[in-house]
Amino acid sequence: MKRILIGLLILSPMFASAQGEWNQKFEQLGTQLPTANNYRNASGAPGKDYWQQRADYVIDAELNDENQSLTGRETITYFNNSPDQLSYLWLQLDQNMRSKASDTPLITENVVTKAMSGRDIQKISREYDFDGGFKVGEVSDVSGRPLKYIINKTMMRVDLPKPLASGEQVSFNVAWSYNIQDRMPLGGRSGYEYFPKDGNYLYTIAQWFPRMAVYDDVEGWQHKQFLGRGEFALEFGNYKVKLTVPADFVVGSTGELQNASQVLTKAQLEKLAQARKTFDKPVIIVSEEEARKAEKNKSSAKKTWEYHASDVRDFAFAASRKFIWDAQAVQLDTKTPLAMSYYPKEGNPLWEKESTKAVANTLRTYSKHTVEYPYPVAISVHSASIGMEYPMICFNFGRPAEDGSYTDAVKWGMIGVIIHEVGHNFFPMIINSDERQWSWMDEGLDTFVQSLTEKEHYPTKPLKRGEARLIVDYMKGDKEGIRPIMTNSEQILQFGDNAYGKPAAALSILRETIMGPELFDYAFKTYSERWAFKRPSPADFFRTMEDASAVDLDWFWKGWFYTTDHVDLSLSKVKWYKMDIPENEVENKAKKSKKAKISSGESSQSLMDFGDEAETFTFTDTDPAAVSERFAEFMNVTDDKSIMKANADRNFYELTFENKGGLVMPIIIEWTYEDGSVERQYLPAEIWKKNENVVTKVFAKDKKVTNIVIDPNKETADVATENNVFPRMENNSRFDLFQSGGE
Ligand SMILES: [Zn+2]
Repeated sequence: MKRILIGLLILSPMFASAQGEWNQKFEQLGTQLPTANNYRNASGAPGKDYWQQRADYVIDAELNDENQSLTGRETITYFNNSPDQLSYLWLQLDQNMRSKASDTPLITENVVTKAMSGRDIQKISREYDFDGGFKVGEVSDVSGRPLKYIINKTMMRVDLPKPLASGEQVSFNVAWSYNIQDRMPLGGRSGYEYFPKDGNYLYTIAQWFPRMAVYDDVEGWQHKQFLGRGEFALEFGNYKVKLTVPADFVVGSTGELQNASQVLTKAQLEKLAQARKTFDKPVIIVSEEEARKAEKNKSSAKKTWEYHASDVRDFAFAASRKFIWDAQAVQLDTKTPLAMSYYPKEGNPLWEKESTKAVANTLRTYSKHTVEYPYPVAISVHSASIGMEYPMICFNFGRPAEDGSYTDAVKWGMIGVIIHEVGHNFFPMIINSDERQWSWMDEGLDTFVQSLTEKEHYPTKPLKRGEARLIVDYMKGDKEGIRPIMTNSEQILQFGDNAYGKPAAALSILRETIMGPELFDYAFKTYSERWAFKRPSPADFFRTMEDASAVDLDWFWKGWFYTTDHVDLSLSKVKWYKMDIPENEVENKAKKSKKAKISSGESSQSLMDFGDEAETFTFTDTDPAAVSERFAEFMNVTDDKSIMKANADRNFYELTFENKGGLVMPIIIEWTYEDGSVERQYLPAEIWKKNENVVTKVFAKDKKVTNIVIDPNKETADVATENNVFPRMENNSRFDLFQSGGE
């Protein structure tokens, strides 16, 4: 009589383990994603009717160094590309977050602690002293007639005399001024730093002009108030900006300098031209010596620097007579942008060595993984204690001690922040996600590519984020203090881990462990290309990553982005079997072990060892009646005898895995054999598709196994590795707990 593998099937207890509670851990996202439409299609790409608004700005502004204020006038031309008619427009007045009427201090919680620093007290009392916020002087149409407007905290509604139809454009003027805050006590993404030793200011200026709020197919008007945390939602447009500053100031800005011959010396112009052709190291355009001289002389004359920028969603600049300026060209596939740095002498010698180099390295790696850097310049400005990004320009910390010495921590911190902030050119300045809503879409994706950049160009730099192992402590923390990644920016707890570390680690796990670099990189680049100069939503990212790779990732997005579950897979039961071969069945085969019929599934083997002998299973005769008809054909071609022979000496290992953390993940198994050799096996996450709590699987091995480890390289962010090992470590104090859990 033919025998088939009925004996083995008995060993595969598909329903032997309790199902446990079913929480759809391995499941499609389904209704959690918005329904696809003609604006955003189901593949995650812009749909056939995708549209976005556009806002062009012509701005004339003056920076007053005497009283640290800024006065400006702008003409905004707003293009209504939406299918909708608009009877009013919303503008963002971010500076009003610093006004005396601001909600921000009112909604900031405080407690009195045993010891309170001056800064703590200042947060409670002094924040109101500064006269911040926009003073809006004029809102008028192109012929100067006043337009009706109302300011609601950080938003301003301009009522149009007649509705703006789809496809139409409207131009209007806004004039304003505001006091620039001292960043040192008051904080902020922009402001000034005062240097008491030489009596000079260094300005990093952003959110400095009334900017159009976003109107789109997802939110309508995105005018969620600016409270300080949730960053910005902005439209693309073209800018023509004239900045009047003291004549001895150097201005670094978004865009391209239009009147270099009017604001630079002949020698500086020559250096700038030389920098455009120099690819190996920065060329000094304004030297430390020149900057030191300007610090002392303090010109009272004025100069106007004119910058133009195309296809940017914002515009920022930095200005100081303290600036040293260097630049070099960067060879990308088709473009050769200028990488540049502006820094006071206080940044040296670190900044002249590392800043522009880091900018160039960032452009190289990001251009490979996303889209080629499209802008003419990329600038890093030295700015104490902050890292903040704008199109083509960013403000970065990292200052040596007064004697010019610096620790590795200062150097790596500075290089890390420069890569991160320059990297923000790609997310969200080009791939224009809504920061006010979703911090992870720019911070998480940027932090992920930052980690790739650091690994490529700075292999000795300690990585802070972007690998699975670096998120374990956060993931295993108290769930009371953890929110899902898919949480509005203002409501996130543990901001850095939530918006930067966890999404970056998740993407790293996708790339290295779940999809593999080839599939991941193509899909990630596809997302970047699809949404460059457009406005992606989370669903567009989730869908594109699947669409371009044919890897079902719904379970991954669901677990990692919509829950606070963590990874804790446990190898909770291991059984070792051999086949019991009756002596009369196979000639010349010695009986391998004593017969011990297993019926209950209970094992005497503990989690501490395999036991001295394998347990056995009986190889039974096949009952043809038990085999359904569709297997009949298979039976006819099954060489039962040879199967028995082939498996007679094999060791059968029945492994039971438990999902204790909630996140379903692939199971990576490392087998160590008696002869010292090692084998890896990878079970895709789909193994959890029917039972998200416990799964059992049998492995037939020629060699005897001495040791089993799951996730041997710690690449899944498993928070409890002690239960990944068999035999369990003797000295594991939590052994009993896991053993009982395993049973
Ligand atoms: Zn960032």
